[in-house]
Amino acid sequence: MILVLDSDITQTQKDKIRNMLSDDGCITREITESGRNVIGIIGNNKKSATDFSSLQGVKEVVPIKTSYKLVSRDLKKGDTKVKVGNVVVGGDRIVVIAGPCAVESREQSLAIAQEVKKYGAVLFRGGAYKPRSSPYSFQGLEEEGLKILAEVREKTGLGVVTEITSPTQADLMMKYIDVVQVGARNMQNFELLKCVGRMGKPVVLKRGLASTIEEWLMSAEYIMAEGNNNVILCERGIRTFEPYTRNTLDLSAIPVLKKLTHLPIVIDPSHATGIREKVSPMARAAVAAGADALMIEVHNNPDQALSDGPQSLYPDQFGQLTRDIYVIAPVVGKQMDFDYLKKSETINNLDKNSSKSAAFIGEYGAYSHKACLGYFGDEITPLPMKTFKDIFQAVESNDAEYGVIPLENSLSGSIHENYDLLQEYDLKIIGEITIRVKHALIAHEGATKETIKKVLGPPPAFSQCRNYLDQYPDFELVPVKATSSAVRHVKDSNDKDAAAIGSTMAAEIFNMKILEESIEDNPRNYTRFAIISKGYKEKADVGKTSVIFSVGNEPGSLFEVMKIFSEYKINLVKLESRPMPGKPWEYMFYADLEADIEKADYAPVMEKLKEKSEYLRILGRY
Ligand code: PEP
Ligand code: MN
Repeated sequence: MILVLDSDITQTQKDKIRNMLSDDGCITREITESGRNVIGIIGNNKKSATDFSSLQGVKEVVPIKTSYKLVSRDLKKGDTKVKVGNVVVGGDRIVVIAGPCAVESREQSLAIAQEVKKYGAVLFRGGAYKPRSSPYSFQGLEEEGLKILAEVREKTGLGVVTEITSPTQADLMMKYIDVVQVGARNMQNFELLKCVGRMGKPVVLKRGLASTIEEWLMSAEYIMAEGNNNVILCERGIRTFEPYTRNTLDLSAIPVLKKLTHLPIVIDPSHATGIREKVSPMARAAVAAGADALMIEVHNNPDQALSDGPQSLYPDQFGQLTRDIYVIAPVVGKQMDFDYLKKSETINNLDKNSSKSAAFIGEYGAYSHKACLGYFGDEITPLPMKTFKDIFQAVESNDAEYGVIPLENSLSGSIHENYDLLQEYDLKIIGEITIRVKHALIAHEGATKETIKKVLGPPPAFSQCRNYLDQYPDFELVPVKATSSAVRHVKDSNDKDAAAIGSTMAAEIFNMKILEESIEDNPRNYTRFAIISKGYKEKADVGKTSVIFSVGNEPGSLFEVMKIFSEYKINLVKLESRPMPGKPWEYMFYADLEADIEKADYAPVMEKLKEKSEYLRILGRY
């Protein structure tokens, strides 16, 4: 049963409820999230719903009908995010866990760890205690293996995941490991579940070979009942009658689980298929289906692997896969971040006075907010701003460490104001992120498309939804600054005739109804954002440089600059011209180059650029 508390409940009322429940010997959990404060009553409940509903401070009593309680979405509406060091499983960034089936030696593990890290893995996996079907197969290096894993973490910065097969290993696991895995064969080993529950470390709970989703969730309940909320569910294929793959990957478990539970989901296509060439297609499908993380077996010499060689990817195949994930993830609102760990390190090293925040335009739920979460995860506090200029000013005055500014949209084109502000302010572009913009028509509960008379949104959103809006010529279009402010205006005005164009995230944040999803003319609607800051925090290798330059008003002057790029085979991925303030018919050019032109190798390019342009500034490298 869930007691939803009044938002203005007093401390005395709350204490009274708590004391009553504790006198009855009830097991309870209190959860506060986005304005909702609930007490979940999990066990030993002697009282009925009516006993509770008459209590002062209780707004609503909701029964949890399922046999699992703590893992249930009814109890906790928001997604659980499991933190492993700087890595968060369950946010906007896909977490890739990779490594061999078994830790075989120090050299093997360190070599594979370097490779998978290079290709975007943020956690390393490897078994030290292997639950093998045959007692004569390699059983793992045991404590020696755990020590190797700890060394991998030390040398690479990758958190390490390994399987625990008996409660007797708990102390060693506590000493060496970041995430413990309960294997498929142990999913219903209840003593082990209780043990990992008490350990409190993040747990990857694999689905049993022939377990239903409900049984699996009950096993997660065992762990959470011990007070450990850091559970990650891992689908790794189930036994079916189909012999062409080792198991059958149940990808439908992803949307099923997303509805039933708040826990994050990792997909293991390696044990599911058992065949190397089947792993990448299923990994791609898993991301498309909404997985939060992937666990992939990778080996540098799979033919000689001591276990699961045939299903292990070669490192370069793994690299191909993560590149594909990079493209697929934004389609479903997520990101594959190749700079994940480096970014965390930079943020952790920011000096103590840093605001550790990123300014974005609009309000919570804006696409810029989504871009901020996709780029930084939860490590930076998003700071809403009213105008683009406010963002630049906040960064310049150190009120925000970073700024997130949209530069161009694939349907409605460039956001010129930001190009002009880049010219005006002496800030650096240090990164970029592209997100899919999927607009929804959002209104109050009870509204329908037929009752709507006006639609609020920023003009670019109207232009991106032109075909859809043309079907409703009677809608009055009311321009506002940003999609998120449109949603808030509609919410605050309590105007049942009004709708807003905005993100599904904004609809969730403002607790509004989605009348229709994906109303943009073309589903390939992407916005590219630049991340700005006062300067670079580190001098890592980068692939792109943005510059602004102007050239003399004479024949061939722009061509002379273009010739330099051509001569040095530098790919120009964007060229934009903007009028120069106060100089009619003179233009400043913005160019994005696929090269790190501040590097020593490109010194001649810089020299020639300076010679052929009247003004030149590097806006950023990323
Ligand atoms: C493993 O991850 O190496 C493993 C043994 O997996 P499962 O428990 O899914 O078979
Ligand atoms: Mn394996």
